[in-house]
Amino acid sequence: MGRNARMERMIKLVTRENAIKDLSHGEYCCYCCEPKTSGSCCYENHFVPFQDLYEEDKEAMIEEYLKDN
Ligand SMILES: [Zn+2]
Repeated sequence: MGRNARMERMIKLVTRENAIKDLSHGEYCCYCCEPKTSGSCCYENHFVPFQDLYEEDKEAMIEEYLKDN
């Protein structure tokens, strides 16, 4: 593995951790994963911290976050 590839992997890891840290500030609907603050949700009214979401939902949100930032 070249030096650049290693660097790239490190950068990815850092942004991923940043995403998790950032996402952990809010609460999310456990059905549609909308943030509580968004006001538009499936109205199930069941919000949980980011850490309590399903693994696959967390992954999707992290990917979404990294795409947007
Ligand atoms: Zn919802």
